[in-house]
Amino acid sequence: MSNSARKYLIAGNWKMNLNSAEGAELAKDVVSIVGPQTDVSVCVCPTFTTLEAVSQVVNDSNVSLGAQNMHFESAGAYTGEISAEMLRHLFCKFVILGHSERREYFGESDAIVNQKTLVALAANLKPIVCIGETLEEREAGKVNEVIKTQLEGALVGVTAADADALVVAYEPVWAIGTGKTATPEMAEEVHAEIRSLLASLLGAEAANKVRILYGGSMKPENADDLLAQPNIDGGLIGGAALKATSFAALVQSAQKRSK
Ligand code: PEP
Repeated sequence: MSNSARKYLIAGNWKMNLNSAEGAELAKDVVSIVGPQTDVSVCVCPTFTTLEAVSQVVNDSNVSLGAQNMHFESAGAYTGEISAEMLRHLFCKFVILGHSERREYFGESDAIVNQKTLVALAANLKPIVCIGETLEEREAGKVNEVIKTQLEGALVGVTAADADALVVAYEPVWAIGTGKTATPEMAEEVHAEIRSLLASLLGAEAANKVRILYGGSMKPENADDLLAQPNIDGGLIGGAALKATSFAALVQSAQKRSK
Protein backbone atom coordinates (compact mmCIF):
# COMPACT_ATOMS: atom_id res chain seq x y z
CA MET A 1 0.00 0.00 0.00
CA SER A 2 1.37 3.39 -0.92
CA ASN A 3 0.16 5.16 2.20
CA SER A 4 0.28 2.53 4.93
CA ALA A 5 -1.13 4.67 7.74
CA ARG A 6 -4.34 5.42 5.88
CA LYS A 7 -7.12 3.29 4.42
CA TYR A 8 -8.26 4.47 0.99
CA LEU A 9 -11.68 6.10 0.84
CA ILE A 10 -13.75 6.11 -2.35
CA ALA A 11 -16.73 8.43 -1.87
CA GLY A 12 -19.47 8.97 -4.43
CA ASN A 13 -21.07 12.40 -4.63
CA TRP A 14 -24.37 11.83 -6.40
CA LYS A 15 -25.14 15.59 -6.42
CA MET A 16 -28.75 16.53 -7.34
CA ASN A 17 -29.40 13.24 -9.16
CA LEU A 18 -31.55 10.16 -8.47
CA ASN A 19 -34.84 10.10 -6.61
CA SER A 20 -35.23 7.67 -3.71
CA ALA A 21 -36.26 4.70 -5.91
CA GLU A 22 -33.39 5.29 -8.36
CA GLY A 23 -30.93 5.85 -5.54
CA ALA A 24 -31.96 2.63 -3.80
CA GLU A 25 -31.40 0.73 -7.07
CA LEU A 26 -27.92 2.17 -7.56
CA ALA A 27 -27.08 1.52 -3.90
CA LYS A 28 -28.17 -2.13 -4.27
CA ASP A 29 -25.82 -2.55 -7.23
CA VAL A 30 -22.98 -0.84 -5.38
CA VAL A 31 -23.48 -3.06 -2.34
CA SER A 32 -23.56 -6.20 -4.43
CA ILE A 33 -20.47 -5.32 -6.48
CA VAL A 34 -18.22 -3.68 -3.88
CA GLY A 35 -19.89 -4.72 -0.66
CA PRO A 36 -17.90 -7.79 0.36
CA GLN A 37 -14.47 -6.12 0.44
CA THR A 38 -13.16 -4.30 3.52
CA ASP A 39 -9.73 -3.15 2.27
CA VAL A 40 -11.16 0.17 1.08
CA SER A 41 -13.68 2.46 2.79
CA VAL A 42 -16.59 3.09 0.44
CA CYS A 43 -19.25 5.73 0.85
CA VAL A 44 -22.18 6.99 -1.21
CA CYS A 45 -23.62 10.48 -0.74
CA PRO A 46 -27.16 10.83 -2.12
CA THR A 47 -29.46 13.85 -1.92
CA PHE A 48 -31.27 14.44 1.37
CA THR A 49 -34.53 12.96 0.07
CA THR A 50 -32.77 9.78 -1.02
CA LEU A 51 -30.78 9.25 2.18
CA GLU A 52 -33.37 7.21 4.01
CA ALA A 53 -33.99 4.75 1.16
CA VAL A 54 -30.25 4.30 0.61
CA SER A 55 -29.67 3.99 4.34
CA GLN A 56 -31.94 0.95 4.39
CA VAL A 57 -30.07 -0.62 1.48
CA VAL A 58 -26.55 -0.10 2.82
CA ASN A 59 -27.44 -1.00 6.39
CA ASP A 60 -25.30 -3.98 7.49
CA SER A 61 -23.06 -3.69 4.42
CA ASN A 62 -19.52 -2.35 4.01
CA VAL A 63 -20.84 0.67 2.13
CA SER A 64 -21.25 3.75 4.30
CA LEU A 65 -23.69 6.58 3.89
CA GLY A 66 -22.79 10.25 3.57
CA ALA A 67 -24.68 13.49 3.01
CA GLN A 68 -23.74 16.30 0.64
CA ASN A 69 -24.24 19.16 3.08
CA MET A 70 -25.73 20.06 6.47
CA HIS A 71 -26.50 23.12 8.56
CA PHE A 72 -24.39 24.13 11.54
CA GLU A 73 -27.30 24.72 13.93
CA SER A 74 -28.88 21.73 15.64
CA ALA A 75 -32.54 22.81 15.23
CA GLY A 76 -34.77 25.84 14.84
CA ALA A 77 -35.98 28.40 12.32
CA TYR A 78 -33.73 27.50 9.39
CA THR A 79 -36.22 26.72 6.64
CA GLY A 80 -34.99 24.14 4.18
CA GLU A 81 -32.00 23.06 6.24
CA ILE A 82 -30.92 19.73 7.77
CA SER A 83 -28.94 19.23 10.97
CA ALA A 84 -26.07 16.92 11.84
CA GLU A 85 -28.32 15.04 14.29
CA MET A 86 -30.86 14.41 11.52
CA LEU A 87 -28.10 12.89 9.39
CA ARG A 88 -26.91 10.73 12.29
CA HIS A 89 -30.48 9.54 12.79
CA LEU A 90 -30.35 8.10 9.24
CA PHE A 91 -26.97 6.48 10.05
CA CYS A 92 -24.86 8.84 7.97
CA LYS A 93 -21.17 8.45 8.72
CA PHE A 94 -19.76 11.12 6.39
CA VAL A 95 -20.80 14.58 5.26
CA ILE A 96 -19.33 16.54 2.34
CA LEU A 97 -18.70 20.15 3.37
CA GLY A 98 -17.70 23.21 1.35
CA HIS A 99 -18.02 21.61 -2.08
CA SER A 100 -17.09 24.17 -4.73
CA GLU A 101 -20.68 24.11 -6.02
CA ARG A 102 -21.89 25.12 -2.54
CA ARG A 103 -19.25 27.83 -2.39
CA GLU A 104 -20.12 29.14 -5.85
CA TYR A 105 -23.93 28.88 -5.93
CA PHE A 106 -24.83 29.15 -2.24
CA GLY A 107 -22.22 31.57 -0.98
CA GLU A 108 -20.53 29.23 1.48
CA SER A 109 -17.51 30.95 2.97
CA ASP A 110 -14.56 29.39 4.76
CA ALA A 111 -16.13 30.58 8.04
CA ILE A 112 -19.36 28.71 7.32
CA VAL A 113 -17.43 25.59 6.30
CA ASN A 114 -15.52 25.89 9.57
CA GLN A 115 -18.71 26.09 11.67
CA LYS A 116 -20.11 23.05 9.87
CA THR A 117 -16.86 21.11 10.26
CA LEU A 118 -16.80 21.63 14.03
CA VAL A 119 -20.46 20.67 14.39
CA ALA A 120 -20.03 17.57 12.21
CA LEU A 121 -17.06 16.39 14.28
CA ALA A 122 -18.97 16.98 17.52
CA ALA A 123 -21.85 14.91 16.13
CA ASN A 124 -19.54 12.02 15.21
CA LEU A 125 -19.84 12.63 11.49
CA LYS A 126 -16.66 12.47 9.42
CA PRO A 127 -16.45 15.73 7.46
CA ILE A 128 -15.11 15.60 3.89
CA VAL A 129 -13.87 19.18 3.66
CA CYS A 130 -13.52 20.29 0.03
CA ILE A 131 -10.94 22.81 -1.11
CA GLY A 132 -9.55 23.71 -4.51
CA GLU A 133 -8.58 26.51 -6.84
CA THR A 134 -10.32 27.85 -9.94
CA LEU A 135 -8.60 27.88 -13.32
CA GLU A 136 -8.07 31.63 -13.01
CA GLU A 137 -6.36 31.17 -9.63
CA ARG A 138 -4.15 28.38 -11.01
CA GLU A 139 -3.13 30.49 -13.99
CA ALA A 140 -2.30 33.36 -11.66
CA GLY A 141 0.05 31.08 -9.68
CA LYS A 142 -2.14 31.23 -6.59
CA VAL A 143 -2.78 27.53 -5.93
CA ASN A 144 -0.85 27.30 -2.64
CA GLU A 145 -2.29 30.59 -1.40
CA VAL A 146 -5.89 29.50 -2.09
CA ILE A 147 -5.36 26.05 -0.57
CA LYS A 148 -3.80 27.56 2.57
CA THR A 149 -6.60 30.09 3.04
CA GLN A 150 -9.37 27.54 2.51
CA LEU A 151 -7.77 24.82 4.63
CA GLU A 152 -6.81 27.05 7.55
CA GLY A 153 -10.19 28.77 7.35
CA ALA A 154 -12.09 25.48 7.45
CA LEU A 155 -10.07 23.96 10.27
CA VAL A 156 -10.05 26.67 12.95
CA GLY A 157 -10.54 24.85 16.27
CA VAL A 158 -9.94 21.37 14.79
CA THR A 159 -7.35 19.46 16.81
CA ALA A 160 -5.04 16.46 16.46
CA ALA A 161 -7.71 14.36 18.20
CA ASP A 162 -9.96 14.88 15.15
CA ALA A 163 -7.41 13.55 12.65
CA ASP A 164 -8.90 10.06 12.31
CA ALA A 165 -12.30 11.47 11.44
CA LEU A 166 -11.18 14.34 9.26
CA VAL A 167 -11.10 13.94 5.47
CA VAL A 168 -9.91 16.66 3.11
CA ALA A 169 -10.82 16.58 -0.59
CA TYR A 170 -8.65 18.48 -3.02
CA GLU A 171 -10.87 19.31 -5.95
CA PRO A 172 -9.46 21.70 -8.53
CA VAL A 173 -12.63 23.51 -9.62
CA TRP A 174 -11.57 23.43 -13.29
CA ALA A 175 -11.48 19.62 -13.18
CA ILE A 176 -14.95 19.04 -11.69
CA GLY A 177 -17.41 17.64 -14.19
CA THR A 178 -15.29 18.90 -17.11
CA GLY A 179 -13.46 15.72 -18.06
CA LYS A 180 -10.18 17.57 -17.38
CA THR A 181 -8.16 15.83 -14.69
CA ALA A 182 -5.15 17.18 -12.88
CA THR A 183 -2.15 15.06 -13.84
CA PRO A 184 -1.10 12.71 -11.04
CA GLU A 185 2.01 14.88 -10.53
CA MET A 186 0.01 18.11 -10.36
CA ALA A 187 -2.41 16.55 -7.88
CA GLU A 188 0.36 15.04 -5.75
CA GLU A 189 2.13 18.39 -5.52
CA VAL A 190 -0.97 19.96 -3.98
CA HIS A 191 -1.74 16.94 -1.79
CA ALA A 192 1.79 17.08 -0.37
CA GLU A 193 1.32 20.78 0.30
CA ILE A 194 -1.99 20.05 2.08
CA ARG A 195 -0.26 17.37 4.19
CA SER A 196 2.41 19.86 5.18
CA LEU A 197 -0.19 22.52 6.06
CA LEU A 198 -2.01 19.90 8.15
CA ALA A 199 1.27 19.13 9.93
CA SER A 200 1.63 22.80 10.86
CA LEU A 201 -1.96 22.90 12.12
CA LEU A 202 -2.28 19.52 13.85
CA GLY A 203 1.25 18.14 14.18
CA ALA A 204 2.99 15.65 11.89
CA GLU A 205 1.59 12.52 13.50
CA ALA A 206 -2.00 13.70 13.19
CA ALA A 207 -1.41 14.99 9.65
CA ASN A 208 -0.32 11.50 8.61
CA LYS A 209 -3.68 10.12 9.70
CA VAL A 210 -5.84 12.53 7.68
CA ARG A 211 -7.12 11.13 4.41
CA ILE A 212 -6.73 13.51 1.48
CA LEU A 213 -8.96 12.62 -1.47
CA TYR A 214 -8.59 13.81 -5.04
CA GLY A 215 -11.74 14.94 -6.86
CA GLY A 216 -12.21 16.16 -10.40
CA SER A 217 -13.13 13.83 -13.26
CA MET A 218 -11.62 10.80 -11.57
CA LYS A 219 -12.64 7.73 -13.54
CA PRO A 220 -11.51 4.13 -14.05
CA GLU A 221 -9.04 5.19 -16.78
CA ASN A 222 -7.06 7.61 -14.59
CA ALA A 223 -7.62 6.21 -11.10
CA ASP A 224 -4.61 3.87 -10.98
CA ASP A 225 -2.13 6.66 -11.65
CA LEU A 226 -3.77 9.10 -9.26
CA LEU A 227 -4.08 6.56 -6.43
CA ALA A 228 -0.43 5.59 -6.87
CA GLN A 229 0.63 8.99 -5.52
CA PRO A 230 1.84 8.84 -1.91
CA ASN A 231 -0.48 11.57 -0.62
CA ILE A 232 -3.62 10.63 -2.55
CA ASP A 233 -5.74 8.53 -0.21
CA GLY A 234 -8.81 8.02 -2.35
CA GLY A 235 -11.28 9.92 -4.45
CA LEU A 236 -14.39 12.07 -4.25
CA ILE A 237 -16.24 10.99 -7.35
CA GLY A 238 -19.06 12.79 -9.15
CA GLY A 239 -20.02 11.55 -12.63
CA ALA A 240 -18.35 8.15 -12.35
CA ALA A 241 -20.23 7.42 -9.11
CA LEU A 242 -23.59 7.36 -10.90
CA LYS A 243 -22.85 4.00 -12.53
CA ALA A 244 -22.21 1.03 -10.25
CA THR A 245 -19.69 -0.50 -12.67
CA SER A 246 -17.47 2.56 -12.99
CA PHE A 247 -17.71 3.29 -9.25
CA ALA A 248 -16.79 -0.34 -8.52
CA ALA A 249 -13.81 -0.08 -10.88
CA LEU A 250 -12.52 2.85 -8.80
CA VAL A 251 -12.91 0.83 -5.61
CA GLN A 252 -11.02 -2.02 -7.28
CA SER A 253 -8.19 0.36 -8.25
CA ALA A 254 -7.84 1.36 -4.60
CA GLN A 255 -8.17 -2.25 -3.47
CA LYS A 256 -5.26 -3.36 -5.69
CA ARG A 257 -3.03 -0.80 -4.00
CA SER A 258 -4.18 -1.80 -0.52
CA LYS A 259 -2.74 -5.29 -0.66
C1 PEP B 1 -17.32 16.34 -7.47
O1 PEP B 1 -18.32 16.97 -7.73
O2 PEP B 1 -16.97 16.24 -6.29
C2 PEP B 1 -16.58 15.72 -8.57
C3 PEP B 1 -15.35 15.38 -8.38
O3 PEP B 1 -17.25 15.56 -9.77
P1 PEP B 1 -16.69 14.81 -11.10
O4 PEP B 1 -16.08 13.52 -10.65
O5 PEP B 1 -17.88 14.61 -11.96
O6 PEP B 1 -15.67 15.73 -11.69
